[in-house]
Amino acid sequence: MRTPLIAGNWKMNNNMTESMELVDNLIQLTKNFNKNVEILICPPFTALFSIKNSINDSVIKLGAQNMHFEEKGAYTGEVSPMMLHDIGVEYVIIGHSERRQLFNETDDLINKKLKAALKYGIKPILCVGETLGQRESGIEKSIIKNQITNAFNDINDKDSAKVIIAYEPIWAIGTGKNATSNQANEMASFIRKTVSELYGELVSQNMIIQYGGSVKVNNANEILSQNDIDGALIGGASLKAEDFYKIINSAQ
Ligand code: PEP
Repeated sequence: MRTPLIAGNWKMNNNMTESMELVDNLIQLTKNFNKNVEILICPPFTALFSIKNSINDSVIKLGAQNMHFEEKGAYTGEVSPMMLHDIGVEYVIIGHSERRQLFNETDDLINKKLKAALKYGIKPILCVGETLGQRESGIEKSIIKNQITNAFNDINDKDSAKVIIAYEPIWAIGTGKNATSNQANEMASFIRKTVSELYGELVSQNMIIQYGGSVKVNNANEILSQNDIDGALIGGASLKAEDFYKIINSAQ
């Protein structure tokens, strides 16, 4: 039985006042929430510590949007897994397409980050996804298979079971153009098959596989009802408490 995970990726949005207001609203909305759904928010680094203190008695979990793979050292401007773990961060997004594209993150770097998160007991959400050109050329599956195989390089069975995968077609992120529920489910099921080839049926059947890419209140229900989709990674719609809460309630 897989518990759906609805995660909000705030990206580089919200100052401290806006962050606390959004969190307070979410705490209120989820006060009596008792469905079997995991709720996660991933604010910017500057807000993590304050938010951690305010969500302590709520059902909301905390994640970071990125991290370095080293524990400490001369890496000006970076934040380490040790630092995230120290303030109670439970999840981290690894290899988001914006990081791959805008900050040149390679499969090798993503593999190092995945291992570092696992070492510190932080649950990694590994993002994979193809560009529009790759989909139009019919190579989306081989792209995804490569991203997964490289990301999991040298990760053992036990650790592999702790990873969450988010299928995020790049052409659907922040564009308002979501994948159809069939496209999303087909890719989620392909990801499950790929994981099964690497780690076997048990790991693959238990793995949480999210869809991300323009999930909104009006399409969440349809996407989240697909067999192989266990939740969503949400950008834009996670910045409004009411919308995010409605999406959470669409999960089953
Ligand atoms: C994302 O940031 O991972 C994302 C899916 O964004 P959006 O929901 O805005 O497309």
